[in-house]
Amino acid sequence: MIKDITYIHEHVTIDLSKEKNNIDCKLDTFDITKEEFLRLKELGVTRVVDVSNVGIGRDVDYVMKMEEATGLNIYMSTGYYKEPFLPKEVEELSVEELAKKMIDDIKIGIDGKTKCATLIGEIGTGFEIMTELEKKVFQAAAIAQKTTGVFITTHTSLGKLGHEQLDFLENLGVDLNKVILGHVALSGDLSYIKSLLKRGAYVEFDTIGKNNYLPDETRVDFIKTLCEEGWSEKLLMSVDLTRRSHLKTNGGIGYAYLIETFVPMLKEVGVKESDLKNMLVENPKRILGVE
Ligand SMILES: [Zn+2]
Repeated sequence: MIKDITYIHEHVTIDLSKEKNNIDCKLDTFDITKEEFLRLKELGVTRVVDVSNVGIGRDVDYVMKMEEATGLNIYMSTGYYKEPFLPKEVEELSVEELAKKMIDDIKIGIDGKTKCATLIGEIGTGFEIMTELEKKVFQAAAIAQKTTGVFITTHTSLGKLGHEQLDFLENLGVDLNKVILGHVALSGDLSYIKSLLKRGAYVEFDTIGKNNYLPDETRVDFIKTLCEEGWSEKLLMSVDLTRRSHLKTNGGIGYAYLIETFVPMLKEVGVKESDLKNMLVENPKRILGVE
């Protein structure tokens, strides 16, 4: 059994219900989540990264309570998601002011609590272009990244605009080795994924089990090929559960799916233990600055 695993892209709590007009998108199922997290602990998980941020229901009290109830280490993020989920302050404040807020979350603590943000993200873009407000968030994130040295984790919409995100951050002086590209597997395009890896960024297979977006067989094929080609030190895995219906009690795949179902699929096709450890243990620890 692999130990010391991190779930690198999750939402301990999130609320997109208003914008999506669907109460299922309000993940506030504390007790069910707690039970599933306790199961994760039995499966070798020690850390969960909550990439909810300002405007989509980030809740430091909720997360700290979950940490206490489960004994997992839960890491939190700062920043703003994407349109139409950006709060008013993204319009109202300057880039420098937004960056300052992110830096304070990282250095001082979130919402007056002792818990600090460890990552910037998930900051995101849509399908066609980066909007002006999304660019503003990326500009602020670049300043905060360079000031603090923490990683930026992004959201791409079905994998689109990966290179545009990297171009934008690179032009602002961000080291692309400090960038994690989210959801890019959903492009379904392996050569595109490799072209992103070649620029130094981490690529996250973070919607594992969401077969309506991309069949897991394809994810397995991609990961197997990428590991064989030596990329496992730049790959990450998570399930990105955001809805009540994603939880096992509510009929969904549940958090344990990654370990109980997907990892065995990778082993089945010959992905090596050392590669699995890179993706599940070593890469996240490097990103989170864990010794
Ligand atoms: Zn996302």
